[in-house]
Amino acid sequence: MAPLTDAHGRTIRYLRISVTDRCDLRCRYCMAEKMTFLPRSALLALEEIAVIAERFVARGVRKIRLSGGEPLIRRDVGELVDRLGTQLGHGLDELTLTTNGTRLAEHAERLHRAGVRRVNVSLDSLDPERFRHITRHGDLRVVLDGIAAAARAGLRVKINAVALKGLNEDELPDLLAWCVAEGHDLSLIETMPLGAVDEDRVDRFLPLTAAMRRLEERFPLARDSHRTGGPARYWRVAGTDTRLGLISPLTANFCDGCNRVRLTTEGKLYLCLGQDDQVDLKAALRDGGVAGLDAAIDHGLAIKPARHDFRIGKGGGPAVARHMSVTGG
Ligand code: SAM
Repeated sequence: MAPLTDAHGRTIRYLRISVTDRCDLRCRYCMAEKMTFLPRSALLALEEIAVIAERFVARGVRKIRLSGGEPLIRRDVGELVDRLGTQLGHGLDELTLTTNGTRLAEHAERLHRAGVRRVNVSLDSLDPERFRHITRHGDLRVVLDGIAAAARAGLRVKINAVALKGLNEDELPDLLAWCVAEGHDLSLIETMPLGAVDEDRVDRFLPLTAAMRRLEERFPLARDSHRTGGPARYWRVAGTDTRLGLISPLTANFCDGCNRVRLTTEGKLYLCLGQDDQVDLKAALRDGGVAGLDAAIDHGLAIKPARHDFRIGKGGGPAVARHMSVTGG
């Protein structure tokens, strides 16, 4: 098989899969309070997700991340992880997921048994009231218990926090201190203009350069050469196990090294988080089997955009209409 190389010479090694667009939280920057979700009949069946993922692995993908929506609220997610775990060591180097942590306590051991070794857990505040405000109804205790269970099960935890002006910006140094104390990594994320929410994201946009200045006042940070082919740059908190990542697609653009594509819950393959170009893998698989799937994947690679076009401007609306939960954050 031809390797998964796009028209700009970038080789695709990383597949992100949104296994459900539903979530049990309603983070203000991510979703509107009243969201309309896809009918369950529109979702890919577990078997279809597995066949598509396995095809990507056969064609050179080395890393798969399950996301959503909240991946751990999909009823058959455990079976999916077990099945994809069998690909580890057979082409796949890493199977991981991004979760809000609310169901991590019940899933952590099974994830580890299936071969998952690292998870990203989203956590924007360590203050229970603030956490509830940002998520609209989340219970911080449940998430902290989930994170503790993940660590006990042997999973390395990376905390993802969206840096939010006026909401958690003053707390980011404390969040990093907590990660250092607990032995977790931390990635800070700039708000991205994806999907309509109930407030104007500009009001909450905090450039990570500003967040970084505060962190440098308190922590000795050394540049770390780690790269994932994504928009993150990394630092190490000197003398600790904690790596700090800054994901700043708005103030820095790393599309030249992009190595990823994204499969949605309904089987669309999006070639860029910040553009609308996509191919329908569900239809291709149902109509043409694996040959049809391969042809659709090749077409997708041919149309993968050179770069996203994120801009954040007052009253400007989102760059793309779909929410992060559709394409899988
Ligand atoms: N439910 C899971 C979770 O909470 O991690 C996985 C899906 S969530 C969409 C994945 C990540 O995207 C989370 O860290 C979330 O904070 C982030 N996110 C969602 N909407 C975003 C936006 N508009 N800009 C930046 N990050 C966003």
